[in-house]
Amino acid sequence: MSANRKLNLKGMLRADLVELLAAIGKERYRADQLVRWLYRHRVSRIEEMSNLSRDSREHLASLSYISSLECLKEQVSEDGTRKFLFRLEDGNTIETVLIGEKERLTICLSTQVGCRMGCKFCLTGASGFIRQLTAAEIVDQVIRVVDLIAPRQTARGPVTNIVLMGMGEPLDNLEEVVRALEILLYDDGLQFSSRRITLSTCGLAPKIIELGERIEVSLAVSLNATTNELRSELMPVNRRYDLETLLAACRRFPLPGRRRITFEYILFSGLNDSLEDARRLVRLLSSIPAKINLIPFNEHPDLPEFKRPAPERIEAFLNYLLERNLTVMTRRSKGADISAACGQLRGLQSGAEEVVGGGV
Ligand code: SF4
Repeated sequence: MSANRKLNLKGMLRADLVELLAAIGKERYRADQLVRWLYRHRVSRIEEMSNLSRDSREHLASLSYISSLECLKEQVSEDGTRKFLFRLEDGNTIETVLIGEKERLTICLSTQVGCRMGCKFCLTGASGFIRQLTAAEIVDQVIRVVDLIAPRQTARGPVTNIVLMGMGEPLDNLEEVVRALEILLYDDGLQFSSRRITLSTCGLAPKIIELGERIEVSLAVSLNATTNELRSELMPVNRRYDLETLLAACRRFPLPGRRRITFEYILFSGLNDSLEDARRLVRLLSSIPAKINLIPFNEHPDLPEFKRPAPERIEAFLNYLLERNLTVMTRRSKGADISAACGQLRGLQSGAEEVVGGGV
């Protein structure tokens, strides 16, 4: 509900729209029309819904509205990565990143303003938590980015993939995130397939299981350490759900077809980049359909204690995994020059204090 006390149609599921229409005496099939207007044609005003009668539109507009994130700033990196700063209705700001790679165009979504997980290598850890994003605000990041890059196209335009990997821990906002995912998957809406959406978590083990029970999407886990001692130091969540608990939850996560869980492993010089770490990583993941995403750390002046390993060290780690037939990707940092790379999202307006960081 906004300051003007009207219901926000954006973020409503089909079932919510059926209920709203029933309350004003309209037929249930009109909910499908609303889904198409909201999420396929991405309209921002009820008056644009031209197959509803004038009377219906006026009635709806007297009760409801369609929210829209305000884009305050867009930055383009040397490598083409684009970062959007959006203003929310309450004045808070979030960032959304658009990353192009080969035939993929991926939107990286934020799910919270701030984050309470406190990972030591992420600027969010220092800035804390402000609030949860609503389903409308999560879905609207996709809608607004598509509006900005492909205004005349319907549905998702040229965007191929979504990752929930921006600011915040998605599983710490499970209700709104599941609602947003349901909407993103509507085949008469934005038309993403579950294969093309990946949720990344720092390891809230019970919520991993709940996510798998409620909706089908791909899962990524930010692992980053192979001992509980180091992981608890880097990621406080490990004190609640240790490696054994986390990996047990991953084993219970339903994986349709030949899908695998992605394990993200940020390589920090001298901390987790030894061959002994690589050996433990192989052992930990031996009973899970897994692929590993190696991410050499992006150094940042605000995190001077963490360094990127030397290239030979990265290569030795990578080769160790490849020789054991693991599927490994090394992620080249995208958008580091505009602070759009992993762990660098901030939600900053120029001149404002730094607010939050971004997830891995
Ligand atoms: S890495 Fe992700 S979960 Fe950890 S503090 Fe940053 S945003 Fe939160």
